[in-house]
Amino acid sequence: MAEQPSDSSILSSIIRCVNFAAIKHKNQRRKDPEKTPYINHPIGVAHILIEGGVQDPAVIQAALLHDTVEDTDTTNDELKEVFGPKVAGIVAEVTDDKSLDKQERKKLQIVHAASSSPEAKLVKLADKLYNLRDLDRITPEGWSEERVEEYFSWAAKVVAGCRGTNAYIELELDKLFKKRNVTI
Ligand code: NDP
Ligand code: ZN
Repeated sequence: MAEQPSDSSILSSIIRCVNFAAIKHKNQRRKDPEKTPYINHPIGVAHILIEGGVQDPAVIQAALLHDTVEDTDTTNDELKEVFGPKVAGIVAEVTDDKSLDKQERKKLQIVHAASSSPEAKLVKLADKLYNLRDLDRITPEGWSEERVEEYFSWAAKVVAGCRGTNAYIELELDKLFKKRNVTI
């Protein structure tokens, strides 16, 4: 059997991810009116997974890195080299193909959700919960109520393909869908 990593090597791998993501996202802000630093999002996604009892360090690492390829100059090969193939593979699964237009990317997220690995489903669920909580808290500048509602109903379709993966996160999502009258 493969040797289990020690607590200190897990801890250092997590901190290396936080540091890497913080450097990559350093000039980015979220879309909320307070322009929250972008790094709050991947850290919050990882925190949701911890609250949901997720113990696989590769899933937590992938959550911390999940937007680096989509939103910064990071490549998946770079992640593979620095953090290994398992973490890079999960990030690749949750990364949209940037050569496609936005509408197409959104459709593909719905199509690909159900065939994703359990690890990628966990990151997708936590990412959607974080973003929906953000939208529920405050509307981004320039967004109409209709656009927020559209985002909620699209996210519910992606979540539908990821169900049966984490009871806590799915319950938290369902509470929000109920509050917002989103059909699930
Ligand atoms: P965006 O992709 O522009 O924004 C949503 C994404 O932004 C989230 O998935 C999240 O991604 C990130 N994000 C950053 N800050 C926040 C925040 N505070 N709250 C929530 N998410 C945040 O928008 P859409 O996903 O809506 O994509 C554009 C689509 O919107 C178009 O395809 C079009 O169909 C639609 N649209 C509709 C309009 C309307 O009025 N109905 C107007 C314009 C566009 P991450 O997890 O990667 O950070
Ligand atoms: Zn994200």
